[in-house]
Amino acid sequence: MRQMITALALALSATTALAAQPILLKPARVWTAEDAGPPHEGWGVLIKDNRIAAVGPVAGLDATGAEIIDLPGATVIPGLMDLHSHLLLHPYNEASWDDQVLKETPDYRVIRATVQARATLDAGFTTLRELGTEGAGTTDVALKRAIADRVIPGPRLFVTTQAIVATGAYGPARRNFNPDAEIPQGAQEVSGIDEAVRAVREQAAAGADWIKIYADYRVGPDGATRATFTQEELKAMVEVAHSGGRPVAVHAAGDEGMRRAILAGVDTIEHGYGGSEATFRLMAEKGVAYFPTLTASESTSTYFGGYVAGKTPPTPAMQAAERAFKLALKSGVTIGMGSDVGVFRHGDNARELVWMVRHGMSPAQAMLAATAVDARVLGRQDDLGKLKAGFLADIVAVAGDPTRDIEASKAVVLVIKDGVVHRRP
Ligand SMILES: [Zn+2]
Repeated sequence: MRQMITALALALSATTALAAQPILLKPARVWTAEDAGPPHEGWGVLIKDNRIAAVGPVAGLDATGAEIIDLPGATVIPGLMDLHSHLLLHPYNEASWDDQVLKETPDYRVIRATVQARATLDAGFTTLRELGTEGAGTTDVALKRAIADRVIPGPRLFVTTQAIVATGAYGPARRNFNPDAEIPQGAQEVSGIDEAVRAVREQAAAGADWIKIYADYRVGPDGATRATFTQEELKAMVEVAHSGGRPVAVHAAGDEGMRRAILAGVDTIEHGYGGSEATFRLMAEKGVAYFPTLTASESTSTYFGGYVAGKTPPTPAMQAAERAFKLALKSGVTIGMGSDVGVFRHGDNARELVWMVRHGMSPAQAMLAATAVDARVLGRQDDLGKLKAGFLADIVAVAGDPTRDIEASKAVVLVIKDGVVHRRP
């Protein structure tokens, strides 16, 4: 008995010795993301282990034994989130999407993804929702694990494995190839309720946190965007995903795909460029969140549409994205921050925040979208997305005040994830 007690005491002291030194952040101001109000001047944040211990006026924080990190001129904010990312892709002006899917091996793509995950964390993005590996199978599950196990640095990942698409409704488009050739696809193809439901169950078994579905794509005879799944197929996939505790994200660029997805009970709509006012109102009514991916539209317009920032007018695609964003804002839709990064450079996620402000959000509103709103969409409003005692210590400091000038969200000087300092001044 005595030996057992000694062993227990030793184990306890070992645990105590392993506990990280508390950290006290002393910036110029703290923005907690509780609301769209201004930051608190003269506040600090105390971190113990991987949690926020206290937030408030620095004088009232117990700094005993703490490492003090001075951050003059900086604003401390919650770690940023981007809920529409593709770590398994890299910018289309480096290699076309078709070439990445057809000519880059999944192994090569994962090696790239590890570097891209670090670049994302460096930029202050501590959480991503990965919306499809685009032909790289379930490698996002392995990536998530390697980050969670601290094998490589990167953001917290919520993963989907492959998107689910209607047969023949995605890419690389088979019509562009010899019909005798077997063309690998960028997503999992299904037809009919049985196959659709099976795909949801297979992905859940493989480790998907969310299910991603394409409700429309460029499948019209003229290449126009048309709805792909029937109402019944969508409904069946949503029912099975939800009953397993997995929310559903839906790619929909056109109004009919959006409408069917909303009626099927999905949780988020991605892109929505062609949505009508009635459809955005329906989204608001049903509590479906919107991820506008404005930077994806700008990027593809730059690569392929002759758009030159500051020189040419916005392309029709960019105008459609702007129109949709403004309609969603006016209709009271929950708008989260999701950029479609991967189409453009990993680590440049904050470009989306700049577009959101350009199209009518206040800087603080855009910052809320990338913190508290995104956390709520993930169902993690009780431990992520705000600076609050008891929340996980995902914390960033930026030079300047991003609630006044959104460009400051790019000037990251400190990144802490899960209580671990990843980047310091
Ligand atoms: Zn995407």
